Amino acid sequence: MTKGTTSHGERHHRLHTICPRCGSHSLHRSKGVCSSCAYPAPKMRKYNWSMKALRRRTTGVGRMEHLKEVQRKFSAGTLNK
Ligand SMILES: [Zn+2]
Repeated sequence: MTKGTTSHGERHHRLHTICPRCGSHSLHRSKGVCSSCAYPAPKMRKYNWSMKALRRRTTGVGRMEHLKEVQRKFSAGTLNK
């Protein structure tokens, strides 16, 4: 067996499954640790050497449900009242 096509036929057991915190397919099934966000560790896994991964999960990527409301209240002048 070589590293190429022939050995790829033997790769049919799943090591990773979907992570409940980050949703990526990176939760190791036997270790129970996510290789993307380090779940179940309390802090999210992040490294400054990985700029692309940082900008994919920073503020403004999601729906900004709370921060949008804060900005709206601030421009309306009703914040801290
Ligand atoms: Zn994760």
